[in-house]
Amino acid sequence: MNPINTNHYRQLPEAMFSIGNPEPVSAPALQLLNNLLLDEYAQDHQWFKSNAGLAVLSGNSVNAANPPIAMAYAGHQFGHKVPLLGDGRAHMLGQLQTNAGAVDVQLKGSGRTLYSRGGDGRATLSSVLREHLISEAMAGLNIPTTRSLGVITTGDTVYRETPEPGAILVRTARSHIRVGSFQHAANLGSDAVKALADHLLEHNYPEASDSASPYADLLLSAGNRQASLISQWMLCGFIHGVMNTDNMSLVGETIDFGPCAFMDQFNADKVFSSIDRQGRYAWAKQPAIALWNLSRFAETLLPLLDDDSDTAIGIAEQQLENFMPAFQTEFYLGLRQKLGLVNKPDAANPFADRTLNVLGQHSIDMTVFFDTLTRHVSGESEKSLLDLFNNKADATQWLSDWRALRNNNPGTADTMREANPALIARNHRVEAALLAATNSNDLKPLLRLGEALRNPYQCSPENRDLQQPPLPEEVVSATFCGT
Ligand code: AMP
Ligand code: MG
Repeated sequence: MNPINTNHYRQLPEAMFSIGNPEPVSAPALQLLNNLLLDEYAQDHQWFKSNAGLAVLSGNSVNAANPPIAMAYAGHQFGHKVPLLGDGRAHMLGQLQTNAGAVDVQLKGSGRTLYSRGGDGRATLSSVLREHLISEAMAGLNIPTTRSLGVITTGDTVYRETPEPGAILVRTARSHIRVGSFQHAANLGSDAVKALADHLLEHNYPEASDSASPYADLLLSAGNRQASLISQWMLCGFIHGVMNTDNMSLVGETIDFGPCAFMDQFNADKVFSSIDRQGRYAWAKQPAIALWNLSRFAETLLPLLDDDSDTAIGIAEQQLENFMPAFQTEFYLGLRQKLGLVNKPDAANPFADRTLNVLGQHSIDMTVFFDTLTRHVSGESEKSLLDLFNNKADATQWLSDWRALRNNNPGTADTMREANPALIARNHRVEAALLAATNSNDLKPLLRLGEALRNPYQCSPENRDLQQPPLPEEVVSATFCGT
């Protein structure tokens, strides 16, 4: 029996979504099923593996009693306002009840909707596998994220620069409400904003829903979740790449894995996305962009915050002022944990900043650096750490300053390990795995990488090659939306 039989978004005002079926595909096949996620959700695997399940998850069959919808949203893309975007190639099937609450199940690449504009509503296998791999890698790092329940090949060709195999991602999320959803609601009027805010509070913010000032609390909590998320991204070198307001989830999950990537050599200004020519979404700019996006969210909430617009603006500003301090606190706490300098923030925070500068100046691989430092604290000699620097003088200076701060500072190798992955989804590995899957029909490299990334805080000897930074000729420095 189809376990996705409710859809709470249909209770929203009608202009917030459109009912419509996915477009059928010619030869659906289940390419990947995320058995571990099904277990996490305490789901019986049987339906997901059955022909009936495949028919629903490929969009070829719909549950007439619970019709799919596409959600409407607006958004600022690279700072420019777009009044109506919406799911142009995704269909929300509804919610799956799991032992940890309800999650949305959405098909991405499932055909045209009311919001497709000129697009074909489809997704390439390569982009779907990329989202599958990286969203599951984020989950492996314990970073809040949408998840991939599985990948379905459609049997149809998708035309991009070249013809490519098409696929559908079965994506789950705590919610698909974005900052852009509120921007669309605001275009409709304050009743729509209130309905959307009440919906989000009811389903995703129990801590704020009973408060005397629920909308102000919602803004504060959403900001805190975002501050925590961005801090976790940055601590492992993740660059989302396209933090438009329509790609920022209001439940604080990483969403929409387009040109995102993890950096190898540390560079605070690093950008991968080929379309981000101004570096708007560079690694170090992510907190400021998140705050900019939250400010757009706050603007939509103004009519709910107070009848008097000046008072409402004052409340919104007060809540937004918490964002940067919340981000800074979590980011430096994380950096200190990475460095094994848990205490003495007054001295250790500036040292953490200096360390990042040193990594940049010496073009040191971020993941390798913190992994090597952790192994040094576990008892390995200092040699491999010192060898990472460009010159011995800087290396020994850094090490002696770090040791001075380590005195009476209780960060153990175990607590450092919790903050320092041995493995990340390195771009050259991701690209090689996608190439093998799409050009040679060989899923083995992708499955191997995905398996290793489930436990990125350990690295078994047979996966040492996955830890290695790219050789100069292997560096992948640009990513493409490649949808
Ligand atoms: P993204 O950059 O992936 O966040 O997408 C921005 C907007 O373009 C969203 O409204 C998407 O639904 C829409 N979109 C992206 N690719 C397609 C496509 N192939 N067909 C229709 N709409 C699309
Ligand atoms: Mg998007």
